Amino acid sequence: METVLNFINGQRKTSQSERFSAIYNPATGEQTRQVQLSQKEEVEEAINAAEKAFASWAKTSPLKRARVMFQFKALLEQNMDRLARVISNEHGKVYSDAVGEVTRGLEVVEFACGIPHLQKGEHSANVGTHVDSHSLMQPLGVCAGITPFNFPAMVPMWMFPIALATGNTFILKPSEKDPSTALILAELLTEAGLPDGVFNVVNGDKEAVDVLLTDPRIQAVSFVGSTPIAEYIYSTASAHGKRCQALGGAKNHCILMPDADIDMATNAIMGAAFGAAGERCMALSVAVVVGDETADQLIERLQQKIATMRVGPGMVDGTENDMGPVISAQHKQKICDYIQSGQDQGATLITDGRDCSVEGYEAGYFVGPTLIDHVSPEMTVYQEEIFGPVLCVVRVENYQTALALINRHEYGNGSAIFTRDGETARQFSEEVHTGMVGINVPIPVPMAFHSFGGWKRSIFGPLNVHGQDGVRFYTRMKTVTSRWPASVRLEQHASSFSMPTMD
Ligand code: NAD
Repeated sequence: METVLNFINGQRKTSQSERFSAIYNPATGEQTRQVQLSQKEEVEEAINAAEKAFASWAKTSPLKRARVMFQFKALLEQNMDRLARVISNEHGKVYSDAVGEVTRGLEVVEFACGIPHLQKGEHSANVGTHVDSHSLMQPLGVCAGITPFNFPAMVPMWMFPIALATGNTFILKPSEKDPSTALILAELLTEAGLPDGVFNVVNGDKEAVDVLLTDPRIQAVSFVGSTPIAEYIYSTASAHGKRCQALGGAKNHCILMPDADIDMATNAIMGAAFGAAGERCMALSVAVVVGDETADQLIERLQQKIATMRVGPGMVDGTENDMGPVISAQHKQKICDYIQSGQDQGATLITDGRDCSVEGYEAGYFVGPTLIDHVSPEMTVYQEEIFGPVLCVVRVENYQTALALINRHEYGNGSAIFTRDGETARQFSEEVHTGMVGINVPIPVPMAFHSFGGWKRSIFGPLNVHGQDGVRFYTRMKTVTSRWPASVRLEQHASSFSMPTMD
């Protein structure tokens, strides 16, 4: 049985730990590998390596750091197929979707290639007589990233390209469910010219994470995962004096207005609800439909499309399915329990994905596309994040009720509206309480040069990931005010005991 190791100081390293976690191919249900769950000593070894590497990496010119990123980008392109196959094999998502996630991560690498421009700081001449002021955006030191199973390439690349390009060193703790991608990324970084110790991977669970959250040498922690864990990460890292951004779960709603292009909206909702088996933090899980007539039209169209969806393994030579399995047997059971609760609490089950079986893959963790109508806000399927291919339809009478529903929900990651009316769309983008908004766009994931993050219990911490927020998160500002002696008149040398003001 192949064991996924750590990557410390430029090398794959075996852990002394005797704890392992099994890695499965979710399409077949077979164990394919195991991962070592690191103990304190190994995480400390990674921190030592990263701390040692920081001194020279922080002083390396931004242009040289950017050149490593350029090389890394080229290697990602060359290794796209290899990465997508590993992701599809461990996560279960279909091949083209895996290519899509590597591409979205690669775009952050492209953004990080511009670091000489992004890290310039500001300069003001003559803020006072003979006095200039400029700011430095300096790296923090050793930073850590803790990432979820659902995007084993993209989410780590929301973090480390910007952290590294700005001069920090980094320790990645990937999900123990699909950790192999992280090791490939580490080796590609080394091949791109990154010095040993600048990027490290430690595999593990809570034991490893707790070291990263409490060791005083870790300066900043980026986390993406479920909300209860995000709250724990944010409070523990903050209590230990670290900068922290912790992105949590979601329940993304779209509003379907009666004036929308219903066919366009149906296609968009299908992909956003069932793509990646609903295991995306930006998946659409609730369609709030204004008016019964529109709701009936949507249900009819969705039913027809669901009937033609191809569910199966993510990687079969020659043919591609629309949707793969979910991550584990336990997660499949959890999704099935949610579907049952919807039925028990009075919703109408239009299509039921629970008995989905794929020929030749009977042991795989497949859940078919599930559509639940007449869902109301009191129901568990409405309130909680299911993270599976389950779309809830809530019927309301008007736009205001639809908006109020979204704004009352505890999560505030993304939302969308389908309408032909510019005024409604504009009002929605101003009034909705979510961090990312789509106007006739079902999954409004911001590009790398903008920042990604939700509102409410979908994020903890003031700064989002990538874009300008990412650069701010991984740098600290220092503002230098300078006066040169040659230009200083003698009388200005006198001590002053009042708050300095410039003249
Ligand atoms: P998870 O919270 O179970 O795990 C995330 C990471 O935390 C993993 O590396 C895991 O090993 C670690 N972890 C788990 N339990 C821990 C504990 N008790 N102490 C310390 N560390 C712990 O999440 P997941 O199941 O891997 O991913 C799915 C979740 O991630 C969903 O809720 C989804 O919405 C969320 N997600 C959010 C975003 C976003 O941008 N907001 C993006 C992707 C995924």
